[in-house]
Amino acid sequence: MLQQVNGHSSGSDAQGRESLREDLQEFLGGEVPLHQLDDLTKVNPVTLETESAKGTSASVLRCLQARYTADTFYTNAGCTLVALNPFKPVPQLYSPELMREYHAAPQPQKLKPHIFTVGEQTYRNVRSLIEPVNQSIVVSGESGAGKTWTSRCLMKFYAVVAASPTSWESHKIAERIEQRILNSNPVMEAFGNACTLRNNNSSRFGKFIQLQLNRDHQMTGAAIQTYLLEKTRVACQDSTERNFHIFYQVCTRRGLQLPRCRAEMEDCFEVTREAMLHLGIDAPTQNNIFQALAGLLHLGNIRFADSGDEAQPCRPMDDGAVRTSALLLRLPEDPLLETLRIRTIRAGRQQQVFRKPCSQAECDTRRDCLAKLVYARLFDWLVSVINSSVCADPASWTTFIGSRGSLSRSPPSEKGQEGPGRRGSTLGLLRADPFSSLHPSPHPPRLLPALAPQVLPFLAGLLDVYGFESFPHNSLEQLCINYANEKLQQHFVAHYLRAQQEEYAVEGLEWSFVNYQDNQTCLDLIEGSPISICSLINEECRLNRPSSAAQLQTRIESALAGSPCLGHNKLSPEPSFIVLHYAGSVRYHTAGLVEKNKDPIPPELTRLLQQSQDPLLKVLFPADPEEKSQEEPSGQSRAPVLTVVSKFKASLEQLLQVLQATTPHYIRCIKPNSQGRAQALHREEVLNQLEACGLVETIHISAAGFPIRVSHRTFVERYASLRRLHPQGSPHAEQATLRALLQDILHTLPALEAATPAAPAGATPAPVHCGRTKV
Ligand code: ATP
Ligand code: MG
Repeated sequence: MLQQVNGHSSGSDAQGRESLREDLQEFLGGEVPLHQLDDLTKVNPVTLETESAKGTSASVLRCLQARYTADTFYTNAGCTLVALNPFKPVPQLYSPELMREYHAAPQPQKLKPHIFTVGEQTYRNVRSLIEPVNQSIVVSGESGAGKTWTSRCLMKFYAVVAASPTSWESHKIAERIEQRILNSNPVMEAFGNACTLRNNNSSRFGKFIQLQLNRDHQMTGAAIQTYLLEKTRVACQDSTERNFHIFYQVCTRRGLQLPRCRAEMEDCFEVTREAMLHLGIDAPTQNNIFQALAGLLHLGNIRFADSGDEAQPCRPMDDGAVRTSALLLRLPEDPLLETLRIRTIRAGRQQQVFRKPCSQAECDTRRDCLAKLVYARLFDWLVSVINSSVCADPASWTTFIGSRGSLSRSPPSEKGQEGPGRRGSTLGLLRADPFSSLHPSPHPPRLLPALAPQVLPFLAGLLDVYGFESFPHNSLEQLCINYANEKLQQHFVAHYLRAQQEEYAVEGLEWSFVNYQDNQTCLDLIEGSPISICSLINEECRLNRPSSAAQLQTRIESALAGSPCLGHNKLSPEPSFIVLHYAGSVRYHTAGLVEKNKDPIPPELTRLLQQSQDPLLKVLFPADPEEKSQEEPSGQSRAPVLTVVSKFKASLEQLLQVLQATTPHYIRCIKPNSQGRAQALHREEVLNQLEACGLVETIHISAAGFPIRVSHRTFVERYASLRRLHPQGSPHAEQATLRALLQDILHTLPALEAATPAAPAGATPAPVHCGRTKV
């Protein structure tokens, strides 16, 4: 039955059948002999939402389990597609043939649920509407659930179904664009993914990629926005986790004074290099990048020992590490050591400069900060190079020869002057301003406008962001991630409610979800004005005063005591506060929160990097033309800090603006078990994820309305056998059968009544309503 609803049954085994039988019994409120199962599977359109009418997420779970047992990994749940991670190769599920089948199907939604249904629906929405409406696909789920896999498959799907024109020249360009867009994946994953406890290929950043289509609905380019790279990973990782993949790949390279890495990395490294080349990052530039990465690895090996005298700086324990990292980063060795060991402070009326030796811990912090700073800039730069390479903004297109990511180019003053004679790869078709991406911008790459019909008629956005997180220890990262998830959940609920309301209106059914409460209260607590958790943390940064973790906890608890979403913080030995999120309550530890939010970069570090002779670092850290004094000011005279939270909030708002101008589609990825084993579904873990991804909430909303909606025709076809009726031909006969069936159901299935939502004001409570076209 469950397979039937969500497409076709697929080889249900005895266990699956037994489970289906249980579901049927529960649904119908009585015993169902097994031999009748096949008949009944034809008539009962049970979906996840149907089950929801009974308000049991356990039934939803059983439904998913039955499907998983039958190797059916995708399930429809209203406007959401639930994707269970198979944790095993299922090549036939992602073949180009299957992509074309979904693309060619007259009604793809009648095929088995699949991410290709979502992809195709999105694509058709773009094509069939007179007015251009952008589409977005929000892929969510916890780490290891399959978000990146899903996004990648969807990109491949579009590369196949929205392939570009076939004429020779344009085909060549189109192939390059599609290939380049796909090539962005291995590069972004090499630099932004890492092996973690929960996923061997965990994305340590959020990603929104807009696929751009031309007026003929062919893919012509893309724009990528990233969020919150976990740069701390560069400096330290949990003992069971690893650094970003690229560091291991680089270790397969000779000449960088690095230990040899396992051979399997060589293949990955080849893939990364090849992809970089396709994106226009030429071999000399790649070498620069790898050399800088090796420099960071050696930097990490620098250890300091206390000098035993406060007035004396710490000693490096191994001069070799300092020398090699200075060599690879092409930094002067002495200033490198000096910058790591000595703080310069301006103080007093005369703004005199003082030099203060750092403690051993401070030296370590500065060393790590330097590594994080270089890596984060490098990542941003790569993203902007990729963006320039895959961007399809025709207004600024021009064709010339030259490579986007090459550092061996003319200075910026020659903007747009690059001509056919230039050295470099011949990838062609680039934007008029080839240098814009080479200058690290303090802002993330700009998203394309939500609607730019005059230039790009249609866009399809794919969002792959961290899912809701709750660990034993939660800090600023989790606060930002869960804040983003609250925002996305609100967006989802608003869309879902609106869609339901619109459908009821079309059906002539009066219904109002006035009593439904969304998560605005929680968002007010996190980001509201004038006082919220974010504003209080930001204020601590702005005041730049020493404040303890306990003080921050007290401030939050007293200033926001009125919020029903602030939990009661009892029995915690460490200073913390609790937020009651839609997906569950999370305790955030306040220790280090303010410092993380400031993300301070000692100015001496930037100034040091500006001295580098390395062409890549010169691009990442251009010399400050105004040569402003960059010593760290003391006291209260700091310029306002652009905190992590405020930057994140701004990029989130921008994202939401873009999403709001689209028709959204949702894919919720679920991890069946935390060990990554095929054929094993752990109910407890899955249930937690159903809650965290908002599916349980969807069920509540659905149960507050009409959870089952079936067209008159389908209803008659499916249920006629209950009365041994055989409706034939005329619409009149169909309506008569429909009426008879409804009468029957009202009398013979009282179990349904219990599951019926409270009726709208003024209406007679009834388990079944008949709309204009649907029951
Ligand atoms: P994170 O948040 O940590 O980045 P994620 O949700 O992006 O996690 P993925 O990296 O997409 O997770 O998936 C984790 C692993 O699960 C993949 O490396 C792959 O081995 C497996 N996997 C995911 N989806 C599928 C699928 N549809 N078919 C086969 N294997 C899959
Ligand atoms: Mg991922």
